[in-house]
Amino acid sequence: MFITTQKDLDVQLQKARGSNQKTGLVPTMGALHSGHLSLISKAYEKADVVVVSIFVNPTQFNNADDLEKYPRNTEEDLAILKKHNPNTIAFVPSVADIYAKNVSAEKFDFGPLTKSMEGEFRAGHFNGVGTIIKRLFDLIKPDYAFFGEKDFQQLMVIKKLVEITQQPVEIIGCETDREANGLAKSSRNKRLSKEETEIAQVIFDSLTYVKKHFNEMTISELKNIVESKFEQTPKIELEYFSIAPIDTLTPTNQKEAGKKYRGFIAAFINEVR
Ligand code: AMP
Repeated sequence: MFITTQKDLDVQLQKARGSNQKTGLVPTMGALHSGHLSLISKAYEKADVVVVSIFVNPTQFNNADDLEKYPRNTEEDLAILKKHNPNTIAFVPSVADIYAKNVSAEKFDFGPLTKSMEGEFRAGHFNGVGTIIKRLFDLIKPDYAFFGEKDFQQLMVIKKLVEITQQPVEIIGCETDREANGLAKSSRNKRLSKEETEIAQVIFDSLTYVKKHFNEMTISELKNIVESKFEQTPKIELEYFSIAPIDTLTPTNQKEAGKKYRGFIAAFINEVR
């Protein structure tokens, strides 16, 4: 079901709430692929009513060119949703519906979580993400909301957002869906040629290597190996490779016993991040 207005959305959601059904929200920026569908399937495991929002949120882009080139195809997205599950409610608001006349981000204090990586390289990005997600939670009041581990820093930021804003929603992280060569499925992959998609495999290969050797090597050694893998691969440019404990997401070279770590990579092929 395709819904654009707040009023229609309320009608549908009230029906669900009236009959005590649980609502799940999957926020997306469209250009849907199987990664998004895996979140939607997970949502149906927990919720009776699933809303997928499709909204390319201007305030989370720090790069005007990236925003302009972001793939948009609502018709195709709706067909994909319908084929996957005709009961899914697609909420496709306009920029004015979300921001009225003030297209700007609220400022949040996410503490150390946003000091590095995407927070460092995409100034203002997480305030934009926080603004749209807070707004969607207010509009939809979901019982559950689903986010991909592909954007692990974002997942942690959303959990913090819920803590700060005290919105009564449970955040559920979902595993990364990947191409056959290991590259995480992403809307931006549509802008890569076949050759470039093959080159991008170095991202997954590096993460896999690090995971395999994490216990026997130092973080500095692992970083050197990943950086040289990227230097040896043509056309791809490493923006950062970091290893950080999952509680603070502060990149480190020091392992501490009992802490859990993740590896993070951002890279460019031409202008595609
Ligand atoms: P996006 O449309 O890129 O903003 O993504 C919407 C949601 O889908 C976010 O929670 C992403 O983390 C998640 N997502 C995107 N790609 C994948 C993937 N390959 N596997 C799992 N989740 C994904």
